Amino acid sequence: MTVKNKVIVITGASSGIGEASAKLLASNGAKVVLGARRESRLQEIDNDIKLDGGQATYLKTDVTKPEEVQALVDLAKSEFGGIDVIFNNAGIMPSSPISALHIKEWNQMIDINLKGVLNGVAAVMPDFVTQKGGQIVTTSSVAGIKSFAGAGVYGATKFAVRNLMEVIRMESAQEGTNIRTASLYPAAINTELLGTITDDATKTGMEDFYKQVGFTPDAVARVVNFAVNQPADVNVNEFTIYPTKQA
Ligand code: NDP
Repeated sequence: MTVKNKVIVITGASSGIGEASAKLLASNGAKVVLGARRESRLQEIDNDIKLDGGQATYLKTDVTKPEEVQALVDLAKSEFGGIDVIFNNAGIMPSSPISALHIKEWNQMIDINLKGVLNGVAAVMPDFVTQKGGQIVTTSSVAGIKSFAGAGVYGATKFAVRNLMEVIRMESAQEGTNIRTASLYPAAINTELLGTITDDATKTGMEDFYKQVGFTPDAVARVVNFAVNQPADVNVNEFTIYPTKQA
């Protein structure tokens, strides 16, 4: 089975990479289940997909709440009869130097970018084990494969989910459960993400950088589509996605 008819849960589907991926996957015949906190945005995207002839549904979801992520996966099963893929994409990036001690934001990043992914994994794992198959795609970042000054905690969450995806792949191979994992490492993508930065100097620097090199979330959506489109015995794992302008 390729993208067509797959049931795909997407977190962080209300903007940016999640929105672009939902629209592309739905246009290729997937049944997409959209989760994020901004319900009105989800409703608009759900409507756009349906106007385009696609299949979608949505649920207001905060990924820091395990019961809400579970409800999103349960919606996939009740509405579309099963779950094939979860795309753990929700994230925030309130980056700042460690010395600035934005401790509240450190914890928010850990809760959303790391624990949010764990909540997604936990919500699908029982079904994936039972059905001996399923795919977990997670948006890490280039900050999950190399260190950037000013992105210490953000990078820590993104390194962590990279490790998590690889370990799930290894354990699945050992346990014979055929669970596939893919980590995405996008570089500068023009989305609403920079709006989560509160540290003025970091924000100005990032905005200037993104203006120079940033590119469209559609590029990441095409990579998600490629990963999901692989046959069940092919596990494509790691994708860096750089704009050609970014060094
Ligand atoms: P956006 O800000 O456009 O999208 C982030 C998404 O995450 C939104 O849909 C937002 O929805 C959702 N989100 C945030 N917090 C929560 C939460 N607690 N519960 C549920 N959903 C939440 O930015 P991007 O599209 O760029 O970000 C998507 C992913 O890509 C993130 O994980 C980010 O770290 C990663 N990334 C982005 C890069 C970039 O340059 N843009 C580069 C590398 C990685 P809502 O606010 O409605 O809840």
